[in-house]
Amino acid sequence: MKKLVVFSGAGLSADSGIQTFRDKDGLWENHNVDQIASIATWKQNLTTVHRFYNARRAQLAEVEPNAAHLMLADWQRRYGAVLLTQNIDDLLERAGCTDVVHLHGDLRAMQCKACGNQWPVGYAAWDPSEDRCPKCSSRKGVKPGVVFFGEAAPHYRTMWRTFTELTTGDVLVVIGTSGKVIDIGSVAAGSRATTILSNLEPSSEASMPGAPVAEDRHFHHVLHGRAAAIAPDLDSLIQTLMVP
Ligand code: NAD
Ligand code: ZN
Repeated sequence: MKKLVVFSGAGLSADSGIQTFRDKDGLWENHNVDQIASIATWKQNLTTVHRFYNARRAQLAEVEPNAAHLMLADWQRRYGAVLLTQNIDDLLERAGCTDVVHLHGDLRAMQCKACGNQWPVGYAAWDPSEDRCPKCSSRKGVKPGVVFFGEAAPHYRTMWRTFTELTTGDVLVVIGTSGKVIDIGSVAAGSRATTILSNLEPSSEASMPGAPVAEDRHFHHVLHGRAAAIAPDLDSLIQTLMVP
C-alpha cells in the first residue's frame, strides 16, 4: 500500500487565526523569537516567556480547526496518513486526527528542567512567581512543554526515519512551512516519493535569503493559496495520487 506522509507548519493553522512564525522579520505574534524560544536565554526572560505562552494557550482555547485540519483527519481515515507537525497547537487533534507527531512539543504541557517531569495544563496560565513543578517543587526550572531553539527534539529521530522509508509511489505533502527550522526542501529534493508543496505564496531562496527554505522547485507539485481555501484542490490531487 502506498504511504502518505504529511509534514505541516504554522501556515496550516494560520486560517484558524494563529499567526505564523517568521512572516514578519522573525517575529512571532510581535515577539522576538530569540527571546521567547531559546534554551540559552529563557530563564533570563522567565516572565516574558511565560506571559507569551500563557497568551498562546488562551488564544488556542478560542480558535477552531479549519478545513485543512479536517482534510488531514479524513486522510488518516482514508489512507492511514502519517502526520508530522511542527505546530504546538492541538487543532489537528480537535479535527479528529490521532497519533500526531508534534516535533516541537505541546503548548498545553509544562516541563520541568530540574527533574524531567512533564504534565498537562490544558489552556491554563502558568504563574512563574507562584506555580511550582508538582513533582520536585522547582519554580524556576519550569518551562512550557515546547521545544526551544538549542534544545533536543526527541521526535526528530522518528521524523528522519519516516522520510528515509519513503519510496517510489509514496506521497509526501508539505503544508504551510517556510522550511527554515527543518530543511524540508532538501528532504523533498532527495526523496523518491511524489512530493507536494502547499504554501501561501511562491518561495525561492532569493525571496528568503539565509537559512534553508522550502523552494517550489524542490517539489513535483506546488499549490499556492491559503491552506483552508486550497484544501479541496489538494484533496483532489491526493485522491488521484493515492489510487492503488
Ligand atoms: P513559518 O512561519 O516559518 O512559515 C509559515 C509558512 O506558512 C510560510 O511559508 C508562509 O508562506 C505559509 N503560510 C502563511 N499563511 C498561510 C496560510 N494561510 N495558508 C498556507 N500557508 C500559509 O512556520 P514554520 O515553518 O512552521 O516554523 C515555525 C516554528 O514556529 C515551528 O517550529 C513551530 O513550533 C512554531 N509555531 C507554531 C505555531 C502553531 O503551533 N500554530 C504557530 C507559529 C509558530
Ligand atoms: Zn520538577
